[in-house]
Amino acid sequence: MRPVSEGVEQTKDVVTMDKVVSLCRRRGFVFPSSEIYGGLGSTYDYGHYGVLLKNNIKARWMEAMTQERDDIVALDSAVILHPRVWEASGHVDVFADPLIDCRACKHRFRADHLAASQCGRQPSKVPGEGRECDLTEPRQFNLMFETTVGPVQDSAAKAYLRPETAQGIFVNFKNVLQLARRRPPFGIAQVGRSFRNEITPGNFLFRVLEFEQMEMEFFVPPDDADRWYRTWVDERFAWYLRYGLRESRLRVRPHGPEERSHYSSATSDIEYLYPIGWAELEGIANRGDYDLRRHTEFSGTKLEYVDPGGERYVPYVIEPAVSVERIFVALLVDGYDEEVVGERGRTVLRLHPQLAPVKVAVLPLIAKDEGMVEHARRLYEELRREGSAEYDDGGAIGRRYRRQDEIGTPFAVTVDEQTLEDSTVTVRDRDSLAQERVESGQVTRYLRDALARAWRTPKGD
Ligand code: ATP
Repeated sequence: MRPVSEGVEQTKDVVTMDKVVSLCRRRGFVFPSSEIYGGLGSTYDYGHYGVLLKNNIKARWMEAMTQERDDIVALDSAVILHPRVWEASGHVDVFADPLIDCRACKHRFRADHLAASQCGRQPSKVPGEGRECDLTEPRQFNLMFETTVGPVQDSAAKAYLRPETAQGIFVNFKNVLQLARRRPPFGIAQVGRSFRNEITPGNFLFRVLEFEQMEMEFFVPPDDADRWYRTWVDERFAWYLRYGLRESRLRVRPHGPEERSHYSSATSDIEYLYPIGWAELEGIANRGDYDLRRHTEFSGTKLEYVDPGGERYVPYVIEPAVSVERIFVALLVDGYDEEVVGERGRTVLRLHPQLAPVKVAVLPLIAKDEGMVEHARRLYEELRREGSAEYDDGGAIGRRYRRQDEIGTPFAVTVDEQTLEDSTVTVRDRDSLAQERVESGQVTRYLRDALARAWRTPKGD
């Protein structure tokens, strides 16, 4: 269970997307992109805390892939690949969504997101008007952003911004097999930016034009593919619980045959209950041998594995794929809370301590007291070497606590009169609000232990 202290009234299910957006704005996590020019739809810039939170998400993901296991290696491939890559992968031909226009209200929709005869907001009616919707037939719309390489804008120089990182992994399969001396089962993990010209972007960071994908391609003997597919669905589900998402807001939804990509024999989404409803957080697919076979065909380079007995086969691929952005939103939604403590309300972001942008804030109780300030600054310098720490002496102590609560800082250390007498400080826990007196020289170790222990058991509802 989430720790709640006495005298604290919790308000249930207070979170909305608007509140999350407003907190992100207020505390400088996320800004609309190019804001001084009026913004560009569905692109965002990240401020200091947003960057720290994203970095922590990526670090924990990479750790789980390449440090806690020894069968996965890392890769960082280019954004712009040889254009033939996207022909081989099928993206040039089939990476398209069915686009429908409403001639009356001028809105655009994805046919697969639009229930029959429903024009977005109001069934069959133009929003805000009595008029009937007038929908076009669906047209295929390719989601890849095109660009040109070199100074001459002819078709030979046409290239694409990658819409997924996976293909950069497949085209490096042979390099990794040989140079990292791997044999199936093994995986290649990559974190990097992907770009999609989405038809109906929106819902804050949930569907954006550019996003950071975290994809891992796990190469296995074909006979083991089904077992590994199930293993990766379980592994990834467990990762979300470990970092604090509520189990009641997570579910696995296997795709039906009509929904799966043409190459996939099995796909499941891990869905999260966002304020917009259940939606895909991460996808796990059994891609079979489609990608390696296609790149073999298009490049002429054999992408296969020859085992020590001389037997050759094309490995099957199991792929967990997610964006940092969808995790970012899920964490903020899941962690967002409003409660009344005594007489006062507070907004608190109960982020897992290992993901929180700032781990500890150091606060001198009285900013004008030289002794307190000196002690606090010394402690801050020490803690800063361990991880992300913040020093704050601006305003009343209650306001400073609330500022830290809103950005999800799990611990606040306060230097007060007693510190000057016996060199102890108080350590305040963001969630339980418990305050503990700790020897100042022991704070670094205290926090190191507390962070290592943090939320070993998943938080409940
Ligand atoms: P959707 O059906 O929601 O468009 P998808 O099935 O096309 O998603 P995949 O191609 O499986 O998505 O991409 C893998 C992951 O990348 C998704 O699970 C999601 O986490 C993330 N993702 C895909 N598109 C976007 C986007 N436009 N903005 C943010 N994240 C995205």
